[in-house]
Amino acid sequence: MAEKLSREYAQQLDQQDELKRYRDEFYIQPGTIYFDGNSLGLLSKRAEESLLSMLDSWKKFGIDGWLKGDNPWFYFSEKLGEKSASLIGADPKEVIVTGSTTVNLHQILSTFYKPEGKRTKILADELNFPTDIYAIKSQLRIHGLDPEEHLIQVKSRDGQTLDENDIIDAMTDDVAMVVLAGVLYRSGQILDMEGLTKAARERGILIAFDLCHSIGSIPHSLSDWDVDFAFWCTYKHLNGGPGAVAGMYVNKRHFGTSPGLAGWFSSDKNKQFDMEHELTAAPDAGAMQMGTPHLLSAAPLLGSLEIFEEAGIERVREKSLKMTDYMMTLIDDELSEFDFTVANPRDDEKRGGHIFLEHPEAARICKALKENNVIPDFRTPNGIRLAPVALYNTFEEVWQVVRILKKIMTDEEYKKFENKRDVVA
Ligand SMILES: *Cc1c(COP(=O)(O)O)cnc(C)c1O
Repeated sequence: MAEKLSREYAQQLDQQDELKRYRDEFYIQPGTIYFDGNSLGLLSKRAEESLLSMLDSWKKFGIDGWLKGDNPWFYFSEKLGEKSASLIGADPKEVIVTGSTTVNLHQILSTFYKPEGKRTKILADELNFPTDIYAIKSQLRIHGLDPEEHLIQVKSRDGQTLDENDIIDAMTDDVAMVVLAGVLYRSGQILDMEGLTKAARERGILIAFDLCHSIGSIPHSLSDWDVDFAFWCTYKHLNGGPGAVAGMYVNKRHFGTSPGLAGWFSSDKNKQFDMEHELTAAPDAGAMQMGTPHLLSAAPLLGSLEIFEEAGIERVREKSLKMTDYMMTLIDDELSEFDFTVANPRDDEKRGGHIFLEHPEAARICKALKENNVIPDFRTPNGIRLAPVALYNTFEEVWQVVRILKKIMTDEEYKKFENKRDVVA
């Protein structure tokens, strides 16, 4: 144990790390330890190159960039969809890169949520990210339904995690659709997506997963699990850049359903420029698109996804688990006297890509971390998220962060700051 607490041990882990060469591919500010890649992933050189190459195609081709160059714009969303497919275990045609997380959930609900007879309710939970809940409530209102009655939010027993049995118990025959996160944004709990999907399917309920915190962090097998729909952002673990274009998965069972929110980019590509007023929708997930793709915000993803293709999500996950496990060991050992609670699940099976620490002074501890050049993520009222990212963080950084936390607590450095959050996080 004593050996595990030494800096040399961390350095040894780094030497054995199969993914270590990827760190050089990222822009890391010298002297800072970035542990917030689950909120906004860092820029890689390859993402920068693919963005510059997009600009270059505009420079060179003007309007002809739609069909010319290495990455014709007209097919770019589909290409990125194909490149994302292995991260979620889907058929390439089932994936499209478009919109934003929130817009994509709206599209999924607009297209597939069809309250009928007794089946009118949407099942969610009380721990999901607010935007999902706002989108669901507004969709219910569009249908003339009262969210108070038609949105069911499964309660957490401990305030941090969900029990899948409680969710399954709530899948009653008045539920039309379930919307859940794959990995919870606070505690990082991984939900049993396979088991929940099976239960939903057996009950004739559609199920959608928000993969914002799971894509690029853990492997998925959406096709094998037979999940109906999924949606995610690309600026967290996928390192697509601030406001990067999001993704969506539609199980091929649902191909051919007319998009609820249609636009000319919902078209079958061969028909789009016929300019007819009757939409012939794309025969695959592409039908979920609306208008002209945001190409400059999609471009960095190409480089970023290539890194994932090369590194492999299985290896990313393996290292990530090792890092968070190591971090918990150090926290247990070094910080036991300081009132921290490790509020993420400890099991490998249930633990996502970040550590979630709770402390009554969390807001000002985060400010003290920043003063020490460690970038954490504060979640109100008392949560500190720390994400050692497999592609660019090191074991030595994990060691350093715990050391710095210990110093902040021992010297009461955090007391210099107000225990209040800033506008963002
Ligand atoms: C980050 C996040 C979002 C963000 O939605 P945007 O539309 O991309 O702003 C949504 N859901 C979850 C679970 C998230 O973690």
